[in-house]
Amino acid sequence: MIEYRNLRVALLGAGSVGAQVATLLLEHGDELAQRVGASLELVGIAVRDVDAVRTAELPKHLFTTDAESLILGSDIVIELMGGLEPARSYVLQAIRSGADVITANKAMLANHGPELFDAAEQVGAQLYYEAAVAGAIPIIRPLRDSLAGDRVQRILGIVNGTTNFILDRMDRESVGLDEALAVATELGYAEADPTADIEGYDAAQKAAILASLAFHTTVPVEAVHREGITKLTSAEIDAARKAGYVVKLLAICERLVDPDTGADGVSARVYPALVDRDHPLAAVHGANNAVFVEAEAAGSLMFYGAGAGGIETASAVLGDLVSAARRHVVGGPGVAESTHANLPVLPIGSITTRYQIALQVTDQPGVLAAIARIFSEHGVSVEALEQTVRHHGPGGVVADSPTATLVIGTHAATEAALAATVAAVAASDVVAAVTSVLRVEGA
Ligand code: NAP
Repeated sequence: MIEYRNLRVALLGAGSVGAQVATLLLEHGDELAQRVGASLELVGIAVRDVDAVRTAELPKHLFTTDAESLILGSDIVIELMGGLEPARSYVLQAIRSGADVITANKAMLANHGPELFDAAEQVGAQLYYEAAVAGAIPIIRPLRDSLAGDRVQRILGIVNGTTNFILDRMDRESVGLDEALAVATELGYAEADPTADIEGYDAAQKAAILASLAFHTTVPVEAVHREGITKLTSAEIDAARKAGYVVKLLAICERLVDPDTGADGVSARVYPALVDRDHPLAAVHGANNAVFVEAEAAGSLMFYGAGAGGIETASAVLGDLVSAARRHVVGGPGVAESTHANLPVLPIGSITTRYQIALQVTDQPGVLAAIARIFSEHGVSVEALEQTVRHHGPGGVVADSPTATLVIGTHAATEAALAATVAAVAASDVVAAVTSVLRVEGA
């Protein structure tokens, strides 16, 4: 019988993820011990209410409300409480006491990452966070380790399952946003207050984490340009389908050249975008997540799977636990967070992409030429122009000033040039309304 060294593991939180982590750790402890070369002893679980009903049956004696005492003397602390405080304070306490920390808390990392990584570096502790982005999908370790010798150019991520479920439903069932959101809520994919998901805050936190890691640069969450899905109409989703696209809420992290200075920079942004139906991301349905990575040498890679769920996320947490425990066994310095590139985070005006714009115009001779002139004057080149609908007056009779819908696809243009073009088009006499402006990504 091999005598293993004992590692003391403290768990903070026993909710959707924490309860599953505790169960797996208790059930598979012997197997994990053999993989690690040390036994992993769950010494306690800190919660708010020790008598609350849990999603898994766990030994009562492990529960405590005294997180601080639990952290003291632990080798590894797993933070699965969520939120900024007291999670941040407990994580700092754990790090300063020399423990390695595992967390799934994207909000805490996106807001306090540099402070936590600095604290860890000072004492030689490690902070693991595979579960913080895209749940069960391995993406942090591939970016940090597997692609460490390559140069990541761009990441396109579907990193929020709730919004992907809603957009997928709008696309496949031709329903409006409210109806799709109601279904998501009913099925438990959306929370009672869905703001963090549908306004893109959750995806922006994940974009900040991915961009920081991929580009060896600190990308604060405030620097992530964010647009949610609330303004999308079913007409836009239908039009996208007819044009061969699907609308996805994307977290985009990109290495680019600043058009003003010619210097390298990075962009991190979240918005709903048109994705070609042939792109692998178009096949990500329901509440699934996927992260599409383009690297200089590796080419395109896609990581796909469950982006949330208690037991799925627990898998990523336990992977981190095995890594942390192995380091305790074999020793040696951990990997510090790499921010050596220190690239500037560029504003949204600096990005270049393709656009699809829908306009309602007066249906009269010369309109197309007038619109084309405005685009050309602003240096935005038109790739495709289609008059899709002619609106008639009542009873099918052509009205005095009938209008038509024009859909214009552009070649790649800067966001700044596009914004100026849209403003000029909106002010034009021949345009009744700009009904949609969507970016096209993934080409
Ligand atoms: P949850 O179900 O709300 O559970 C939170 C747990 O933390 C509860 O057990 C709660 O105790 C405990 N807790 C909260 N505040 C506390 C405090 N001040 N002191 C002590 N205990 C406290 O959360 P979750 O869904 O498991 O999420 C945990 C983390 O994982 C979050 O950072 C989340 O963003 C992340 N994550 C979750 C998922 C997912 O699918 N759920 C996926 C990826 C990442 P009581 O039970 O006594 O109230």
